[in-house]
Amino acid sequence: MNKVYQCYPGGKFKALTMSYDDGRTFDRRLVDIFNRYGIKGTFHLNSGLFGDDKRIDPAEIPDLYRGHEVACHTVTHPTIARCPLPEVAEEVLADRRALEKYTGYPVRGLSYPNGSLSEDIERLLPLCGIRYSRVVGSSDSFALPENPYRWQATCHHKHRLLEHGEAFNALFKKQYLYLMYVWGHSYEFDNDDNWQLMEDFCALVGGRDDVWYCTNIEFMDCMDDFKRLQFACDNNFVYNPNARDCWISVNDSDPICIPAGRTVTL
Ligand SMILES: [Zn+2]
Repeated sequence: MNKVYQCYPGGKFKALTMSYDDGRTFDRRLVDIFNRYGIKGTFHLNSGLFGDDKRIDPAEIPDLYRGHEVACHTVTHPTIARCPLPEVAEEVLADRRALEKYTGYPVRGLSYPNGSLSEDIERLLPLCGIRYSRVVGSSDSFALPENPYRWQATCHHKHRLLEHGEAFNALFKKQYLYLMYVWGHSYEFDNDDNWQLMEDFCALVGGRDDVWYCTNIEFMDCMDDFKRLQFACDNNFVYNPNARDCWISVNDSDPICIPAGRTVTL
């Protein structure tokens, strides 16, 4: 029987994603850094807080975040574990509705405002069309998320960022898939006067052939696409019912592409 391994797009085995909250105007400078190094991220926005001159104007969304992901951070940034569940549902759905006026695509990501969550909220989110939600803290790990509704980053950017970046660059064992995930708030670089930290990190990890640079939802969609692949009983052919290509390696060969909507003999 063929031994099949999942790969990231392009046949890669390492992925990097970034996640920044609150939609403050410093996102402009952060996006510029990411774009110069080919790094992609997700920006979690509070649609009810637009209009404050410290926050981006929603009319900027299509241009500013082009190539990145816009995701929810609830309408008003409450500590949602203290709220009635219908209020949480409204905070999420109304945020999606407001953001989707500007994105043109379904907004399916969330990060928990104030890191606040509960088991009830985790069960509520898929019913509101949310596919993942990020918690706070640092895992110090490149492992894939086991529970997408308690998705913890590898590190906050103030937590050993360059050290983690060097360790990520050094990963070479292709029997694993790895993910490096960095989170924070763009205004922290201004508060701490350390924009150079993110410049240095992006120079360190950007532009590498062995890394897939993705948004948070692109990562989740890649994992979900693989689960939908339909393998023959003995793995000698596979059908890809997705609208996106998938990549696998067979018997430790070089990765191959399984084109969207096609059957491939392995
Ligand atoms: Zn926040």
